[in-house]
Amino acid sequence: MTPLKAIRQFCLRCTNGDRSEVRKCTGVMIGQGDENGICFFHPYRLGRGRPSVKTIRRSCLECMGENREFVRECWDPDCPVWPYRMGRNPRRAGQGNIDHIRKDMKGGSAGVFSPQKRRSGR
Ligand code: SF4
Ligand code: SF4
Repeated sequence: MTPLKAIRQFCLRCTNGDRSEVRKCTGVMIGQGDENGICFFHPYRLGRGRPSVKTIRRSCLECMGENREFVRECWDPDCPVWPYRMGRNPRRAGQGNIDHIRKDMKGGSAGVFSPQKRRSGR
């Protein structure tokens, strides 16, 4: 599930699945939300836009009283935004490792097949 879909599902859960309530939601929160007191998810509640996973992180920190450890150990894996609670996209995890392997291969590590070497007969 993408961050956008996760937020949409979160909003549906917030309204017990009532789509019209999600649409009507003003996002106003007393003493919570962004600098204007609006729910972090409000701009994305209808399943439009490109939310950053950092937006989810901010919301999760708020959910857990700004306690990072509580967010890390969040006991509600059924929460739609749970995979993004640490402010990272788990689907992108390890991408850097693949780049690292590619870089090693370009460097001609021993034992790595090299079409160029084969063509030149070396
Ligand atoms: S924008 Fe916030 S308050 Fe409104 S439905 Fe979504 S989660 Fe609930
Ligand atoms: S994932 Fe956990 S911390 Fe984040 S909003 Fe859901 S219940 Fe709260």
